[in-house]
Amino acid sequence: MSGRLRVIGLGPGPSDWLTPEAEAALTEATDILGYASYLDRVAIRSGQTRHASDNREEISRARHALELASEGRDVALVSGGDPGVFAMAAATFEAIEDGPASWRALDVTILPGVTAMLAAAARVGAPLGADFCAINLSNNLKPWPLIEKRLALAAEADFVIALYNPASKARPQQIHDTFALLRTRRSPTTPVVLARAVGRPDEAIIVTTIADADISSIDMSTLVIIGSSATRILKRDGARDWVYSPRRAEELV
Ligand code: SAH
Repeated sequence: MSGRLRVIGLGPGPSDWLTPEAEAALTEATDILGYASYLDRVAIRSGQTRHASDNREEISRARHALELASEGRDVALVSGGDPGVFAMAAATFEAIEDGPASWRALDVTILPGVTAMLAAAARVGAPLGADFCAINLSNNLKPWPLIEKRLALAAEADFVIALYNPASKARPQQIHDTFALLRTRRSPTTPVVLARAVGRPDEAIIVTTIADADISSIDMSTLVIIGSSATRILKRDGARDWVYSPRRAEELV
């Protein structure tokens, strides 16, 4: 039997946001690998083997998945959200590039999922309705000065900016530095969305501004969206305000 590897996105949380394609792959797999807290969201059938690993072990997890597929297993490697967004799909190709030539002949498929940025945007309206970019604030795999440069250039280009991995216990300062940088380049009234644990029972969504954002509330379960100069807040009585970026572009300010 020839094996295969499917790299799967579970979506941000609820099973409603798991695609039928991903669900079918999880049912068919002989082996399911992933970070333990993602695997907790997957119902393991009898006969399936669950391989939980630590958050930081992406390359060794990818290599393990590729080895199992080489042995003829039907392997599912899971990520939260979309596997191609700061997650296991890129780690898989990093492992393939540095691995044995035989891995290039394997049947490897990436199954997309709903990424956190899209789920967060949908909760508040349409903040990503015009040109946007996504920046991973973690400096585990890249130097902080490069992140600062990308933030500055994204601000200069007037993109809406989605920030992944905005803070963690080991990196509490960077989100403060990020807001300090953005405050010098964007109006204080620029809309900001703080979307924590979207789709999970402890979901908390806040619509605020660059000036008013409570930065200390931002943690590793939060997706941050910083508006462009065109992004607007539509005030509502008795309900969360809407945020949207009109499709018509305005001149750079
Ligand atoms: N592959 C994932 C992202 C992995 S990076 C995806 O496509 O969504 C992890 C970061 O994603 C977190 O630090 C947080 O910024 C964001 N994130 C993931 N799930 C989230 C959720 N349910 N709510 C808010 N942010 C989330």
